[in-house]
Amino acid sequence: MSKQRAKLVVGNWKMHGRLAENATLLQAVAHGAGELPADVRVGVCVPSPYLAQSQSLLEGSRVVWGVQDVSAFTHGAYTGEVAAPMVVDFGATLAIVGHSERRAYHRESAELVAVKTQRALEAGLTPIVCVGETLEEREAGLTEQVVGTQLDEVLAKLSVQEAARLVVAYEPVWAIGTGKSASSEQAQAVHAFLRARLAAKGAAVADVPLLYGGSVKPENAEELFRQPDIDGGLIGGASLKDQDFLAICKAAAATSVAG
Ligand code: PEP
Repeated sequence: MSKQRAKLVVGNWKMHGRLAENATLLQAVAHGAGELPADVRVGVCVPSPYLAQSQSLLEGSRVVWGVQDVSAFTHGAYTGEVAAPMVVDFGATLAIVGHSERRAYHRESAELVAVKTQRALEAGLTPIVCVGETLEEREAGLTEQVVGTQLDEVLAKLSVQEAARLVVAYEPVWAIGTGKSASSEQAQAVHAFLRARLAAKGAAVADVPLLYGGSVKPENAEELFRQPDIDGGLIGGASLKDQDFLAICKAAAATSVAG
């Protein structure tokens, strides 16, 4: 029988939001999350300028917050960068690293993603390390090779204790923002592969939360979250609509131990 792990649903707002609309969204999510079972955790990764707003509206709620990237440096002459300790100053606990949009548009290498993961861990953040293949790579049968290499680059730089603090998100590039989610079978197969890779690092790493991301919607969330190695979701577009995001959180609750 597969092991039951707590569920985690994290919104990735990307470069969306303004103060007024954020306030409505954050308050609705905080309120809705308060009604979820205790083994469903909820987070939002917001653009850095809205960390203070997130802290002021989410503190004391069930929702944690964080950023979508951190610098590979701790401080210094790196114009435009935001260091992990800075976001911790605003109560953040999460940092997405290695999102495919950063790998593609900012040419972030696997090595750089690994260093950013280290900086996030040193600052006390939970890194959400994103891995995923392009459509061409999938069609060439390279999915496991690509995601395995992306994960291994990060694991190689970490101790077992550090690796046990990760969250990993499988986000097939072809499913992000396209409306075309991976099927639950496709996602589960990659998650099982990633789980084995994590377990090979050490027993303490085997149970890190493995999130699926890529066109998760209220309609497909429950089936995805019922898969034995899918511990929740990283949600892009649907995290900008309170009702859709909360419906996805409720799908996580329906598949949780307490749900
Ligand atoms: C994402 O950007 O992390 C993502 C999963 O996007 P979407 O849900 O919009 O596909």
